Amino acid sequence: MECEICGNDAIISTNNGTLCTEHFKKRFEDITLNTIKKYKLIKKGEKVAVANSGGKDSLSLLYILAKYFKKNNEIVSITIDEGIKGYRDKTIEIMKRYCDEYGIKYKIYSYKDLTGKTMDYIASLKKGIPCAACGVLRRYLINYAAKDNKADKLATAHNLDDEAENVIMNLVQNDVEKMTRLGAYSGVVKEEEFIPRIKPFIFLGEKETMLYSMLNGIDAIHTPCPYAGYGFRGLVSRSIKEFETKYSGSKRNVVNTMLNVKESRKNLKVKNVNKCIQCGFPSVKEICEACKIKISLQKAY
Ligand code: SF4
Ligand SMILES: [Zn+2]
Ligand SMILES: [Zn+2]
Repeated sequence: MECEICGNDAIISTNNGTLCTEHFKKRFEDITLNTIKKYKLIKKGEKVAVANSGGKDSLSLLYILAKYFKKNNEIVSITIDEGIKGYRDKTIEIMKRYCDEYGIKYKIYSYKDLTGKTMDYIASLKKGIPCAACGVLRRYLINYAAKDNKADKLATAHNLDDEAENVIMNLVQNDVEKMTRLGAYSGVVKEEEFIPRIKPFIFLGEKETMLYSMLNGIDAIHTPCPYAGYGFRGLVSRSIKEFETKYSGSKRNVVNTMLNVKESRKNLKVKNVNKCIQCGFPSVKEICEACKIKISLQKAY
């Protein structure tokens, strides 16, 4: 297998090209920077909060943003500590090490501070699938953290595989509204309390982000969450990988379908978003899902 640019030995072949080490790194960064430019994800002078789990994807994103944007933009790393023993404590150590190396400030926000309880405690209550509550609290807290840091944008390292999973999950749940909030620039509603989310890796696959992190010396260990696999996402993730193996380009097509639907709905009048009566953050219901969890935990105590 030869690099399509220089003819040297290729190390990867995907829909984004068959490339040697040097040209793969260049193509990876070009795709990221083009996505940022095309969707106007980061403007000069904006403050960018990067959601940083301490995993290979978020550390690669931090590396690229530090490399290309640190000069003109303030960047802050945000980590959510769910309170899962033997899992998040390890990735927090890795996150700190790389933030120091790249010269980026970091902040940690925990479920314990938000709800008074850790995820381990919430899971021990055995009320439904742990990932359901965990997802609600993480989305809430990451937005809170971005706002707390006065960030203009919240960057996440969601890649093509993650986004294809999101689209399929919304399709299965018949939630077109939610699906059109996906994409490189999330959110159709301009809302002061909601920090726009940006996904510079949305056109790069899991295999590519993994290779890019390795080639840049990011040795983030993969520690699986002990509650992983319970969720709906696990099933969707396995299915989409199987599709991709049998029908190359499936993930890209799923994401492109979502982008086309989003584009065709762009002029639709967006419904006003209510505010949660407890915390004031955007919510479709009177009380947001995160506050509902907080209230139920207070009762369970
Ligand atoms: S696997 Fe589930 S419980 Fe674990 S961090 Fe992810 S969403 Fe939370
Ligand atoms: Zn090459
Ligand atoms: Zn609320």
